[in-house]
Amino acid sequence: MFGDETMFFGDHGEVPRKLWSSQRNAPFRECMVCNRALGPEDCYEIQKAFNKREAVFEIVVCMECGLALAAEYSRESIAAITAFMQQRLDFSRPPEVCTFCGAVMGGAPSQSLSAVCRGDRLIMPVIGMCAECEERLQGCLSEKTRRAHEDFINRTVPGIPADLDLAPVLFL
Ligand SMILES: [Zn+2]
Ligand SMILES: [Zn+2]
Repeated sequence: MFGDETMFFGDHGEVPRKLWSSQRNAPFRECMVCNRALGPEDCYEIQKAFNKREAVFEIVVCMECGLALAAEYSRESIAAITAFMQQRLDFSRPPEVCTFCGAVMGGAPSQSLSAVCRGDRLIMPVIGMCAECEERLQGCLSEKTRRAHEDFINRTVPGIPADLDLAPVLFL
């Protein structure tokens, strides 16, 4: 997704506690789609949505499953998401604000964190997203992509609140 902008990839420290499994209070250890155990060399993505400080949704997707999902997205949506990321993503912002617009997120009613990891390390800085940016990004998606993503979430994490808008996974 980031094309040649590989400058963000590298070692960004251990996966922080706020991105651990809330249920187990420990790091995630398997992909929630294919249930494969995540080894020290495996790349995967974590997404976690919060209401104020409480985690209301979390998903862990290995790279293979993330790529399989992205293959269902329309070409227009992928182009729109990529443009959105390239125009707004700013890793120079402090970690407690939205990485896209700078809005303060701590304690806000709806916000999410995403991270791309390998083993127990972050390979990109954690991305914070406020509710407004979530909506902006959702607005970039075609109907087909929105449905593919919705089906994917419902298959993977049944019973999540219907009004929870989530950004598509980052493996594009
Ligand atoms: Zn998987
Ligand atoms: Zn924002």
